[in-house]
Amino acid sequence: MDIKLKTFFTIIGIAIFSIMFLVLYEIFRLYQVTTALAFTEKQRYEMTLKADELRQSSDDLTKMARAYVITHDPHFKEDYYKILKIRNGEEPRPKDYEGIYWDLSPKIRKIMHPLQKPSSLESQMQKLPYSDFELKKLKESKINSDKLALLEQDAFAKSEKSKNLKLDTSIALLHSKEYFQAKENIMLPIDVFLTAVRKRTRQKIVDAHHKIDTIYKEIALLFIINIIILLLAVYVLRKKILAPIEYLHQAILAFRNNEKEIPKQKFYKDEIGQMIEQFFEMKEKIDQDNEKLRQLATTDPLTKIYNRRAFFEIANSFFTLAKREEIELSILILDIDFFKKVNDTYGHVAGDRILQHLAQVVQETLRKSDIFARYGGEEFIVLLPNTSLDAAQHVAQKIRQQVERTPCHIDDIDIFITISIGGSAYKKEDNSLNEIILRADKALYLAKENGRNRVEVL
Ligand code: GH3
Ligand code: MG
Ligand code: MG
Repeated sequence: MDIKLKTFFTIIGIAIFSIMFLVLYEIFRLYQVTTALAFTEKQRYEMTLKADELRQSSDDLTKMARAYVITHDPHFKEDYYKILKIRNGEEPRPKDYEGIYWDLSPKIRKIMHPLQKPSSLESQMQKLPYSDFELKKLKESKINSDKLALLEQDAFAKSEKSKNLKLDTSIALLHSKEYFQAKENIMLPIDVFLTAVRKRTRQKIVDAHHKIDTIYKEIALLFIINIIILLLAVYVLRKKILAPIEYLHQAILAFRNNEKEIPKQKFYKDEIGQMIEQFFEMKEKIDQDNEKLRQLATTDPLTKIYNRRAFFEIANSFFTLAKREEIELSILILDIDFFKKVNDTYGHVAGDRILQHLAQVVQETLRKSDIFARYGGEEFIVLLPNTSLDAAQHVAQKIRQQVERTPCHIDDIDIFITISIGGSAYKKEDNSLNEIILRADKALYLAKENGRNRVEVL
C-alpha cells in the first residue's frame, strides 16, 4: 500500500463526510416518514371517532326514546332532543362526545365533557379526508339514524296519546322487528365504513413501518461502514505513521549516540517512508563526510600515510599498553640522505614524487600492524609493536636496503636515494613515548655522522 498519506486521509475524510451526509439524509427521511405515519394514524383515529360518535348518538337516542315511552319522565325526552340537536349542530357539543354517558348527572357530565361550539356531525365529517365510499357509508348511516329518529318521535306521540290506553303500542314500536331493522340499517354502513377505513389506512401504516425498518437498517449499515473506515484509519495510522515515527525516533537516537549500524527497515513509499529514506541518505552523507574529515585530519596529503598527529594518537596508546603489559615496542626514524641536493637537482616536484615513492616502498616492507607516518619534511617514523631492539634493527636494515635498491622512476630517469635510520626500543624506565623517540633521533644523528645510508640503534 504505497498510497500517499495525504491521498489516503483525503479519501477517508471524503468517505466519512459522505456517510455523515447520508446519515443526515436518512434521519431527515425518518422524520418525514414518522411525521406522515403520525398524521395518518391521527386521521385514522379521528375518522373512526366520528363513526363512533354516530353509533353512540344513535344508541343514546334509542336509549332515551325507550326510557321515555316506558317512564314518561320528561328528562328523557329532553335529553333525546338535546342529543338530536347536538348532532345537528343546533346546540353546543360536549367535548369527546363519543365517550359521553347520559347516565351521569348533568353536573358531572359537564365537568367531564365541557360544552364546545355547536357543530353538526356532518360538517365535522366534511373536514376529514374520507374516501367517497366511506363518506357515502357514513351519510347513509346518518340518514338512516335520522329516519329512525322520526320513528322514535312517532312512538313518543303514540305513547303520550295513549296515556289512558294501553302503553304497549309505543313500547312495542321501539322493540319491533321494523325498529331492529332500522337499527341495523344504521349500524351496518358504520361497520362497512370502519372496515373500509381500516383497510385503506392499514396499507399506508404498514408501508410506513416498512420504510422505517429499512431506514433503521440503512443507518445501522452506514454506522458499520463508518466504524470499518475508522478502524482502517486507525490501522493505517498505527502501521504507516506511528510505527515508522517510532522507528525514526529510535534511529535518530542511535545516530545521536554514534551507533554505527542502525538496522534498516523497509517502509511504504509514502511521505513518512520518504522521510526515513531521506534520513538514511543524510546519515550516509554525514558518515562519508566524517570519514573524509577523519582522513584529512589523520592522513598526510602528499604520501597518504598517517600524519604526525595521528601517529602520536595511536603510538601513545601502544606505549601505555607496552608499559602496563610489559610488551616490547620499537621506534624507527627515517631521514632521506642529502635530500636538499635531490631537490636542487630534480626540482621540488620530483622531490615530492620521491617522498611518495619512499612512503610506498617502506609501507610495502612493513607489516600491516606496524604504524608508519610522515614525521616531518623528509623524515618518517615507524612504530613496531611487539618488536625488540634487535628485531627492529633487522627491520630497519631491510627497509634501508629496499629503499637503496628501488629507484624512483621520473620522466624516464631512475633516481636512486638512500636513507639513514635511527632506532630505539622501549625500556622499563621510559615514562613517555618521547623518550624513545629522542633516543631514536640521536641514533639517526649517529647514522648521519657515521656516513649515512646506515642504521644505528641506541
Ligand atoms: P641530510 O639529511 O643527509 O643531512 O641532508 P639533507 O639535505 O636531507 O638535509 P636536511 O634533512 O636538513 O634537509 C631537508 C630538506 O628536505 C629541506 C627541504 O628542501 C627538503 N624538504 C623537506 N620537506 C620537503 C617536501 O615536502 N618536499 C620536497 N620536495 N622537499 C622537502
Ligand atoms: Mg631531515
Ligand atoms: Mg635528510
